Amino acid sequence: MDTKAFKRSLNHSDKYFRNSLGHGKDVADQMQTEYQSSLIQKIRDNNYVLTEGEVTISLAKSFGFCWGVERAVAMAYETRQHFPSERIWITNEIIHNPGVNQRLRDMNVHFIEVIDGEKNFAVVGEGDVVILPAFGASVQEMKLLNDKGCTIVDTTCPWVSKVWNTVEKHKKKAHTSIIHGKYQHEETVATSSFAETYLVVLNLDEAQYVADYILNKAESPEAQQRRRDEFLAKFEQAYSEGFDPDQDLERIGVANQTTMLKGETEAIGKLFEHTMLQKYGPQSLNDHFLAFNTICDATQERQDAMFELVDETVDVMLVIGGYNSSNTTHLQEIAIERNIPSYHIDAPERIGPDNRIEHKLLHGDLTVTENWLPAGPITVGVTSGASTPDRAVEASIERIFQLKQQAALVTAD
Ligand code: SF4
Repeated sequence: MDTKAFKRSLNHSDKYFRNSLGHGKDVADQMQTEYQSSLIQKIRDNNYVLTEGEVTISLAKSFGFCWGVERAVAMAYETRQHFPSERIWITNEIIHNPGVNQRLRDMNVHFIEVIDGEKNFAVVGEGDVVILPAFGASVQEMKLLNDKGCTIVDTTCPWVSKVWNTVEKHKKKAHTSIIHGKYQHEETVATSSFAETYLVVLNLDEAQYVADYILNKAESPEAQQRRRDEFLAKFEQAYSEGFDPDQDLERIGVANQTTMLKGETEAIGKLFEHTMLQKYGPQSLNDHFLAFNTICDATQERQDAMFELVDETVDVMLVIGGYNSSNTTHLQEIAIERNIPSYHIDAPERIGPDNRIEHKLLHGDLTVTENWLPAGPITVGVTSGASTPDRAVEASIERIFQLKQQAALVTAD
């Protein structure tokens, strides 16, 4: 498919919306009421610190809803107002937050069901309205919905669209897009759908493996075939159909899932630039490598604030955000790397009753930890992912205050 031509024609369609639908003011008031928090504002105003009883809360200086998420949720709310009687669908979670998604369900926005790993678009009919979430949708999904005669409200964050443009440039110059991301993450699925040839690498280790493959050749054709097979097995499901590492890594460009660790994305970009420089020399570098600049500011700011927070003396860290939220998981990773006891929860209700917390282990399952808050005066570092409303942070902090108050009362008895 000529993805660029398709997107251009979609942009001219009167059934395609990718900006506010004109109800911004009403929706802003509604969102303020539903998601903002006076307690969080108070902590912000107090230089991000608040002490109550034995608990000091130290809040990250940048956390929670990013503007791309806020924009997407506002557009979804506007869609309901703008199309009060139409059937409205959404192709995926609007953002990775269970509370916000439930709120949309309450507004009678239907989520496309996934059956045996496939989305069931058969339920969507002509005249229906379909919302595309903040992290986008694959170009094939957009085409399918457009062919069905649906109205499309595209809330894709402009930062994500910027990555898609980068991938289009790679394609135009016949370069393979190497995408730093998780191949099954919705954003990366959408981004890779715009590429002709792509390979997704999860981290610096995988990127190094690819760089080694580019630089070294086996001594015999048989050994090279074995290397190639090993490569294809290692990255199974993470490359475009027919991908051939012996040919498709001669010209590359780097793109990223916007919520990956910024430092790692940059390191991967540099690694591939050096690799191609080493292989082809400075004169030919531009024919073999395309630089990129698509790291989202919001991700960067939240990660920088987390690095600042873990440098402070905190006894415990609380990270709030959806369990499938990539940017939240990366915040948790930063705390774990510093050996700080860190608990990732997706909702305030995971805290209590008593001094217990149900949380998700990094790369693991849900688990319950008893006595997670240490006795005596403590400092709790708090941050939240880009899909988490301030209200959820407020409720989590209030639960911590309550637990420590109860503990103080028991000790006093
Ligand atoms: S994290 Fe960045 S790319 Fe993702 S929605 Fe927010 S602003 Fe957009």
